Amino acid sequence: KTKAKIMDEDGIRRAIRRIAHEIVEKNNGVENLGLIGIRRRGVPIARRIAEEIKQFEGVEVPVGILDITLYRDDLSSLSHQPVVHQTEINFPVTGKKLVLVDDVLYTGRTVRAALDALMDLGRPMLVQLAVLIDRGHREIPVRADYVGKNVPTSKKEVIHVHLAEIDGDEAVYIMEK
Ligand code: 5GP
Ligand code: MG
Repeated sequence: KTKAKIMDEDGIRRAIRRIAHEIVEKNNGVENLGLIGIRRRGVPIARRIAEEIKQFEGVEVPVGILDITLYRDDLSSLSHQPVVHQTEINFPVTGKKLVLVDDVLYTGRTVRAALDALMDLGRPMLVQLAVLIDRGHREIPVRADYVGKNVPTSKKEVIHVHLAEIDGDEAVYIMEK
């Protein structure tokens, strides 16, 4: 169906670069910082943020991975249940300033599941959220601290994020379901 490009390669790069700077500014540096990418496309975004920070701060921020799968109820998208499958977080989270990173923020339920998983691992000093796209329609009180682009959507629309590491090209599209 109709597909509109809302970000191109340059737009994605600039958004990620800006978010990297905002993270360092808001946290007064990189001390105790850790990034947690939510699979799948949150992971390359988290790695790119870490790469940017390395370039302008000269410090390697650790990147962990959370694997969260959605089980959507057949009757209603309102009742979908995110389930945490696997974590690859090879650094202690206690005392850390963690930034969760995902490609698209929608109902907020995935973030809630991610927070549960993080709290099971230890006691972070704080947790923030960075997303490339905020498409609205929150069902719980979750907000992003860092947003690449706010894209008001209808529930019939869906965002397609293409990243080179996974998709071979760089673009963000909005399309009718
Ligand atoms: P939630 O509803 O829990 O905020 O989002 C569920 C998961 O599905 C998140 O990992 C989010 O990245 C993904 N998601 C939700 N809506 C969209 C969308 O329109 N496009 C893409 N690419 N991912 C989405
Ligand atoms: Mg996702």
